[in-house]
Amino acid sequence: MLDRKVKIKSIRDLGSRNYLLTLNAPEQARLIRPGQFVMLKCIENVREDPLLRRPFTIFDVPKSARSGKPVGLDLLIKEVGMGTRKLIQLRPGQALFCLGPQGHGFQVSSEMRNRVEIACLIAGGVGIAPLYLLAQSLLAQNVKPVLFYGGAAIADLVLRDYFERLGIDIIYSTEDGSFGERGVVTQPLAQFLKTHPRRDIRVYACGPWGMMKAVHALSAQNNLQCEVSLEARMGCSLGACLGCVVRCKDHEGEEQYLRVCQDGPVMNSRLIDWETAPL
Ligand code: NAD
Repeated sequence: MLDRKVKIKSIRDLGSRNYLLTLNAPEQARLIRPGQFVMLKCIENVREDPLLRRPFTIFDVPKSARSGKPVGLDLLIKEVGMGTRKLIQLRPGQALFCLGPQGHGFQVSSEMRNRVEIACLIAGGVGIAPLYLLAQSLLAQNVKPVLFYGGAAIADLVLRDYFERLGIDIIYSTEDGSFGERGVVTQPLAQFLKTHPRRDIRVYACGPWGMMKAVHALSAQNNLQCEVSLEARMGCSLGACLGCVVRCKDHEGEEQYLRVCQDGPVMNSRLIDWETAPL
């Protein structure tokens, strides 16, 4: 894990209070695995508020056009409070502290070749953030990703073009019916699992707690392995402050608390006590 002062390359307004922040961070970019995150100090002057850094999942790792080597980090930022508001007000050329990459990402390995045919990727709103790097690494293992991408309205389905360029199957849904199927994202997933009753499917989800709980239930009903990327408020991100714990059960069903920062953010959905949402 590295702590570096990195420069902002660009901040692109995607609409609906979503932004794509690109950082020049070649050292850290080389180390990223799908599902990992970085902690950003959201301001240039370290004495200003907010004091605590904020966690952001890595959406993509831009490469040099000339050498093909990783040169930066693309982060999807939704403006939700003071930290993200100050972050998106920064300008290209300004610098901020970036700690990472951190955390356990998605499990994708060469063992999946010939064993797993389809990976269902379920994104609720800005939960799309970790799924682009995941889709690319699944394709590299010959696994076929099918993306289920849901939001309240069409404006919330940001960065669709990245996934469309991968040429994968995508099922969109919006609650207001402005794009794709009308309803929540788990409805087309349930339909898909009904019409594909197979064992060689893996499920990966990121989004609001209620969505991931519903995805877990569908995966368990269909005996499918499911990994979820959790989000929690983090104090230190180093496993010490225990500010980001989530209530889980161990293999004997005993209560345990796992740290989203160090034991996650990606966890097997069967470990989690879905009746107890993190604070
Ligand atoms: P949102 O609340 O608008 O929900 C997006 C979609 O999720 C909905 O349109 C619906 O299709 C689905 N959904 C929501 N609740 C559901 C339920 N109970 N059952 C079935 N489907 C449901 O999304 P948002 O405001 O963009 O928030 C996205 C969430 O993603 C946040 O909770 C954020 O914490 C999380 N997130 C996590 C990470 C990570 O890496 N862990 C990264 C980014 C965002």
